[in-house]
Amino acid sequence: MGEVVSRVSEIDGKAVVPGDAVCVIEEFMPGAWTYVANGVIRAAVAGRVQVDIVTRTVSVKPFVKLFEIPVRGHYVYGYVVMVRDEFAIVKITGSAHHVRYAGTFTGLLHISQSSDRFIKNLYDVLRVGDIVKAKVLNDATPYNLTLKEPKLGVVMAFCGMCGSKLMKQSSDTLKCPSCGNVEKRKVSIDYGNLKGL
Ligand SMILES: [Zn+2]
Repeated sequence: MGEVVSRVSEIDGKAVVPGDAVCVIEEFMPGAWTYVANGVIRAAVAGRVQVDIVTRTVSVKPFVKLFEIPVRGHYVYGYVVMVRDEFAIVKITGSAHHVRYAGTFTGLLHISQSSDRFIKNLYDVLRVGDIVKAKVLNDATPYNLTLKEPKLGVVMAFCGMCGSKLMKQSSDTLKCPSCGNVEKRKVSIDYGNLKGL
């Protein structure tokens, strides 16, 4: 037991870079952000070693909070700040994976990524002020976005006539419960459900 405690104090909190040997598998179980090669537990990311004595698990706590920026494949939420004929600018504010981003990021939606259907006019897809759920296509800013999945598209929008929250009418129309105004959008099947936002 004394041997384990001294071993823990030796490696717990130690700074490591990817590939560094942390310990051998006879000592501890491999935990998060580690991998095992030839019986040696190694760090998969740069961070600090954390030992859980109860579960006898060793893990690495990354220095940088991973995924604090959008990466390819992430489903994100954002609000539309500009719409032109061919593209729209979306401020990405959060992820749909319960990951908190470090700030807001600029997303670019090209008309060719706005729908599976033929779209003549991007104003039929989204408008300034709408909240959209989109998928990130690349790993650098500006992030290219797509809305080409049923769960992607506008998840919240407000009436252009009176400002009320619009209700879903069909996959491409929203209706105002207050004034009856009908507006076109690419409506997400998750419209009104802002989980993870
Ligand atoms: Zn209205």
